[in-house]
Amino acid sequence: MARSWMVNPKIHCVQHLMGAHAECHIFWGILNKKKSIKGYINSNCIEINSLLNYHKILQEEMLRRNYNHNSPLDSLPDLSYLTYEEINVTVDRQKSLDMLLERCDKCRENYVQLCDNNEYIFV
Ligand SMILES: [Zn+2]
Ligand SMILES: [Zn+2]
Repeated sequence: MARSWMVNPKIHCVQHLMGAHAECHIFWGILNKKKSIKGYINSNCIEINSLLNYHKILQEEMLRRNYNHNSPLDSLPDLSYLTYEEINVTVDRQKSLDMLLERCDKCRENYVQLCDNNEYIFV
């Protein structure tokens, strides 16, 4: 399932960095097709208000690691089919981080490093 982790992308291993970035574009497509996002909300996966900014910081991290990025996300599609609550839903960042660290040893290693360096953890 597509997921916006909403954590500092420096935490991510390559797979999770690339995945999180691709999933921003997937979310954009879902919104553009006016599909339901209820499942993503129930699974703590989506934060529409932060989608463009989250994509931007993922893109910056990709460029920092010398990966190409040729897929700008400059504006959101029409959101008028969604409720106010859906548009303003937020990801529980601690829950999201806990899940990531449980799933991925490489992300966990990077996370420990970031903590040691006093870098920010949550987006
Ligand atoms: Zn990972
Ligand atoms: Zn992109």
